[in-house]
Parts: sequence; C-alpha cells; structure tokens
Amino acid sequence: MSEEAEEPEVKEEIETEELEEAVEEKPKKPEKPKAQKKKKEEKGAFSYYKIDEKEGLTRLRPFCERCGPGYFMADHGNRYTCGHCGFTRYKQNQQ
Ligand SMILES: [Zn+2]
Repeated sequence: MSEEAEEPEVKEEIETEELEEAVEEKPKKPEKPKAQKKKKEEKGAFSYYKIDEKEGLTRLRPFCERCGPGYFMADHGNRYTCGHCGFTRYKQNQQ
C-alpha cells in the first residue's frame, strides 16, 4: 500500500480586492483662489502702430510735442497725454 499523501486541500485565500468605496465625490470643490482671467489690454509698442497693407505703418498715437519723436501720448478719449512730461493735448478734430 503506497501511502498516497493526500495533499491537503489548500484553500487559496481568495484575495478579494477590497474595493474601496469610491470616495464620495463632493460636488463642492475646495475653494481655490482662482485667478480670474481678465481681458488685459495689450500694451506694448505694437499697440501704437497699425500696419495696413495699403497704408503701411500708421501711428495710432501722436508723439509728444515736448518730448519729441519716440514719446507717444496716451489716448484719453478726447485728449492725448504724455506720460513722460505730462503734456496734454486735446484732440482737435473730433468726428
Ligand atoms: Zn512729453
């Protein structure tokens, strides 16, 4: 009689992956100081010029009469103001 070593039934432990209950998704997100996108007025030298195919380069701002060429004046609606010397010139021909 041969001893047949009966292999003990090894019950493999069925690893049941503990399904972590989905973390309750909160609809409310933690408030974050979100920087709201603001439409920034593009500033720069390029904003002083307008390039047209026909007319070519057009200056949108006048130069300061005091400071001379190179010093653009800011457009304030009905007047131009030089940020360099403070010179203000009212627009003459308003349409
Ligand atoms: Zn000026």
